[in-house]
Amino acid sequence: MVSQAYALTPPPNHFQLPHRLRRLSDLAYNLWWTWHSEAERIFRELDHVAWEAAGHNPVVFLRTINGERLKAAQRDRDYLKRYDAVAAAFDAYMAGGDDTWYARRHPERLNQPIAYFSTEFGLHESLPIYAGGLGVLSGDHLKEASDLGLPLVAVGFLYTQGYFIQHITEDGWQEAVYADLSFPDLPVHPVLDEAGQPASVSVNLAGREVHSRLWRIQVGRVPLFLLDSNVEANAPEDRHLTARLYTSDLELRLSQEMILGIGGVRALRALGYNPGMWHLNEGHSAFLVLERARELVAAGHSFEEAASRVRAGTVFTTHTPVPAGHDEFPLWLMDKYFSTYWLELGLERESFLDLARHEQPWGETFSMSILAMRMAGRRNAVSELHGQVARKMWAFLWPDRPPQAVPIRHVTNGIHTGTWLARRLKHLYDRYLDPQWLERVHDPEVWHSVDRIPDPELWEVRRHLKRKLAAYMRERVRHQWLRGHIHPVQAIAGGLLMDPYALTIGFARRFATYKRANLILSDIERLLALVNRADMPLQIIFAGKAHPADEPGKRLIQQVYRQVKRAENGGRLIFLEDYDMSMARYLLQGVDVWLNTPRRPNEASGTSGQKAALNGVLNLSVLDGWWREGYNGRNGWAIGEDRDYEDHEAQDAADAESLYRLLEEQIIPLYYQERSADGLPGEWIGMMKESIRTLAPRFSMRRMLREYVADLYLPALATTQEPC
Ligand SMILES: *Cc1c(COP(=O)(O)O)cnc(C)c1O
Repeated sequence: MVSQAYALTPPPNHFQLPHRLRRLSDLAYNLWWTWHSEAERIFRELDHVAWEAAGHNPVVFLRTINGERLKAAQRDRDYLKRYDAVAAAFDAYMAGGDDTWYARRHPERLNQPIAYFSTEFGLHESLPIYAGGLGVLSGDHLKEASDLGLPLVAVGFLYTQGYFIQHITEDGWQEAVYADLSFPDLPVHPVLDEAGQPASVSVNLAGREVHSRLWRIQVGRVPLFLLDSNVEANAPEDRHLTARLYTSDLELRLSQEMILGIGGVRALRALGYNPGMWHLNEGHSAFLVLERARELVAAGHSFEEAASRVRAGTVFTTHTPVPAGHDEFPLWLMDKYFSTYWLELGLERESFLDLARHEQPWGETFSMSILAMRMAGRRNAVSELHGQVARKMWAFLWPDRPPQAVPIRHVTNGIHTGTWLARRLKHLYDRYLDPQWLERVHDPEVWHSVDRIPDPELWEVRRHLKRKLAAYMRERVRHQWLRGHIHPVQAIAGGLLMDPYALTIGFARRFATYKRANLILSDIERLLALVNRADMPLQIIFAGKAHPADEPGKRLIQQVYRQVKRAENGGRLIFLEDYDMSMARYLLQGVDVWLNTPRRPNEASGTSGQKAALNGVLNLSVLDGWWREGYNGRNGWAIGEDRDYEDHEAQDAADAESLYRLLEEQIIPLYYQERSADGLPGEWIGMMKESIRTLAPRFSMRRMLREYVADLYLPALATTQEPC
């Protein structure tokens, strides 16, 4: 699909690899290894200390590894055998595009690429171009698209600084540290034009022609193209436009979104793509609908014809039920940036603004979500409850319909199994489930055999994962302590005193106030009584970043941190700084219970609990987002009831009471007291199996993406047969 003029540059051969191990370079430059644990092992095993020091980044790792290690590996038969097997599996995967689910089912659609736009992609911790759940969902989406064989091409940003690194001061205040990413150290390829020069596209931003370079990341079979405005041809201030995610400066944000939406379409055109449909993952990229309309108007269509064609080929996924979470721009900014662009659409100011006009109490704005809702022919929310909320929230756009008939459906989010499943557990599933289980991961039938896993084996893996988490926290603390970064009390807050055999709850996510990280702390004396029971201690590990401009979110971290630091909790309340995908794996694979306490119905879906469930961790959560669909009374615990509240205070009080009672009356006794003769908590393990069996297939990315294909992608592709 990539035209000859923009050929992919081969990975630079700067690793000085011995010939026998030269394929390590190919593996490093394709993120396939991030969801194949045996491939990750091929790197790690060479030198696990250097692997940690390189932040699990194979490009840095291969550049810095001691040559003696490579020589030793070259003589290690056992290593070479596994290396050859991984290289063969990788080659078979990359060559197997014709034998995928999509290629077999929909061969006639293979020449209609699916363009997927998102502001963030959470693919791996070594590529910090994501902030949280939305990005991880996009990353998982690409990996699954590769596995299923979808002809998907993705567009996003290569931020020069990435998302911030979180430091917590002794007083619990979050500090945001930004570091420039070194692109030669990342598994990215520069896209070059036919003259061998960096390929670029440009967008006119209020009279300035702003250029963006193109980079490519290979995610298995799926290419991800990333824009980067840090090029010499730009004015110094424009070079910083794509430095950071989610800036709160509106003008900067508008510029970014124009680069993504308008520049992104131009990038795909320059690369020779003619997508059959376009998926907007959240409204940030919604300007792409305007650019496609502009192309059609330039080709001689009226704006109305153009708009109707654009609608037919566009899918929009909305992700937030919180009104403030939707991007809107003041009209004066739109005037400044679009006053020539709307003429190219054949529109005048008023008809242009009408596309996305939003009446707010403080005046009129241009809303990206409204633009996307109006210009995407297919729209979806990300859980059943979020669908109800979204239909109500956007009902004003369809004034002639009752709220339940508002055309927004839902596809509940899921997670990419290979990315989130612990290696040891995968081995257990390999042994006791159908040998083809990973190929049929969305099929509930496959998961019935979870019952065949002997309790002692399952429990031993769970104990192993919790010890691993404890060791991980200790090493982090040691590292911080050695560097003189922390006060002694912060070493304890960082998990130094964690007991690897005590019941452990995990709570990790973005610190936004509606997520109520402090709900479990609301009656601190009642909690401490549970935490400190000598015979049945309870530990809680918190982690998460607040958006740097979110003062209430940062105060929430401080409130939690101050409790964590108190001697009265015996070191059993823990806060881990700088949550990322690597920490997420340790936490949601290592704890016993995954806690989520959003103020319903604000959690659109949530996905971390799905990752926990896949790993045998039990969910303790409000009936919001995905958990309202996943909970069946036997596979975890529900905080509060399946109902709405008018009054936040009453809701918080009722949920806190429910949470404490569940801990006191059910969770703690079940973990410690219901032990059989062999010392195993039989009922707990039974619940784990019920949780894995019922949740792993249903909340897999495989199930999710197949729903997108059937309900949204194929109908959109069918309407856009003719190239435009
Ligand atoms: C899965 C994940 C999230 C999303 O978690 P929620 O359940 O939506 O809060 C956020 N950050 C990271 C690093 C994740 O892995």
